[in-house]
Amino acid sequence: MSNTEATLFSRIINREIPADIRYEDDLCIVINDIAPQAPVHMLVIPKQPIPRLVDASKADRSILGHLMWVAAEVARDAGVDEAFRLIVNNGEGAGQTVFHLHLHVLAGLKAAPMFVEADLGDP
Ligand code: AMP
Repeated sequence: MSNTEATLFSRIINREIPADIRYEDDLCIVINDIAPQAPVHMLVIPKQPIPRLVDASKADRSILGHLMWVAAEVARDAGVDEAFRLIVNNGEGAGQTVFHLHLHVLAGLKAAPMFVEADLGDP
């Protein structure tokens, strides 16, 4: 994909592709994941398309903090603020498929270890 091509999430932000929008402000949008991996599975997405977390610069610190704050707000709105997880997949090797930074907010699963043995490959 060229750098000028809009990401999937930018196209959702620009209303070119429909999505189930749960929250929006001037800096970010929150949508329901199209293929939920938990009863509650939302994506917190900055409007500024930073590809991966490691691509964020020092100047992006405030937006990164804002995304965390919004994650807690939408978790509260969804009634899951007592038990939810945040996941950021950084890079293809970590399972990132959409190269526009996003926080996964997951809730409604039983408490479980962070990883199962099958996840633990060679570093
Ligand atoms: P990741 O694998 O961390 O890059 O996460 C990308 C997420 O985007 C996956 O959980 C997908 O299910 C989700 N996704 C892909 N397309 C859409 C879409 N059109 N609307 C909502 N979520 C989507």
